This record gives sequence, C-alpha cells and structure tokens, in this order.
Amino acid sequence: MPSAAIESLLILQDRDLKRRQVETQLKAIPIEIATVENKIAAEKAAIENARVELKGLEVKKKGIETDIGAAEQKLAQYRTQQLSIKKNEEYQAMGQQIAAVQAQIGEFEGKELEIMYAIDEAKKRFAAAEAELKANISGHEARIKAMHERNQSLTAELTQADGAFQEVRKSVPEPRLRQYDRIAVRNLPAVVAVHAGKCGGCHLKVSSDVESASRGKGVEATAALPTCDQCGRIVYWEA
Ligand SMILES: [Zn+2]
Repeated sequence: MPSAAIESLLILQDRDLKRRQVETQLKAIPIEIATVENKIAAEKAAIENARVELKGLEVKKKGIETDIGAAEQKLAQYRTQQLSIKKNEEYQAMGQQIAAVQAQIGEFEGKELEIMYAIDEAKKRFAAAEAELKANISGHEARIKAMHERNQSLTAELTQADGAFQEVRKSVPEPRLRQYDRIAVRNLPAVVAVHAGKCGGCHLKVSSDVESASRGKGVEATAALPTCDQCGRIVYWEA
C-alpha cells in the first residue's frame, strides 16, 4: 500500500493524464479539419485544371479550323487561276502550288483530329473530376461537421477534466505539488512504483538509499518524496 502522500499524488497524476489526453485529442482536430479541407480544395483544383485544359484545346481547335478555312480559300483561288493559264509551265507551277496547299490542309486536318481526340479525353477527365468531388463532398462535409461537434464535446470534457485536476491539487500540500509539477513538465508519469529495485519510469536500477526511502511510510507532509537517481521521478515501493 502506497502512503497517503503517494496516494493523493497518484490521483493527481491520473487526472493530469486524463486532462492531457483530452487536450491532445482537442489539438488534433484543427489538423484533421484542415486535412479534409485540403482534400476538397485538391478535388476542386482538379476540376478547374481540367476545365482550363479543355478550354485551351477548344481554342486550339478553332485556330486550326480557321487555318483550314484560309487554306481552302487559297486552294479554290489557285484552281480558278489555273483555269485561265495558257502556258504549260505556268500551269504546272500552279499545279505544284495547289498540291502544296492540299498537303498543308491534310496536315491541318491531322492536327484537328488529334485535338478532337484530346478534347474527348479532357472532357472525360473533367467529368471524372466533377464526379469525384460530387461523390465525396457529402462525406467531406459530414466529417467536418462531426469534427466540429467533437471539438465542442472535447472542450466541455477538458473543462471538466481541468476542474477535476484543480480540485485534487487543493488536497495536496504545496511542496509536493511543486515537486510533482517540476517533474511532470518533462516526465509523465511523474510518480512511479519501484519493482524489484527498478524504477517503473526508466526501468533502471535505483540506489539502495532510494529504494529504502521509497519504502518509508511516515514521511512528513512537507518533506520531499524520494526520487529515482536516473530519471528524477517520484518513486514509491510496491511489493
Ligand atoms: Zn527512473
């Protein structure tokens, strides 16, 4: 049986741990909300990217169509001119120009086909991105809502846990509180049992002085409690 002094510190520690646990859970919530919000933003960005890509391709397609129109006009013009040419050489030269324009039109049409194919693919990506957001958004929103609710309940829980912690502090003498607080800042649990000569915190062997001090029962209320030589935690003896 640990002494009354240790008993009250163990209760204090228990409430301290509970309080910190709630605090940790509470701190994680904004990060979780941000993660979901980032997902929504990424899905929206994917839609926007697909939209911009599609628009760019449509502009390109219009450009090619204009080029084809201009080349066809030129072709018609050359053909009309050719009709009135009498000299064989000039006729042939015009024939070559006509062939060159035809080849160019063929090239343009090939490019137009490529762009049309790319537009189809971009439309699919756009639709897929939109479908993804649509499918996920209600889940995302539900998660954010749940997180806000959790935030509320944890805040209430923390207030309660803090109150319970403060309540026990009132029953612990000042020097003990100071000793506990000093250790708890860096090492929790701050109060541990000694088992088979080993500290329950760092698991190293404590000196025989500390071990016998940890067995001490009638310690004065103001005296400092024995601590582990290695890690500085408050130790008590447990069979
Ligand atoms: Zn230790």
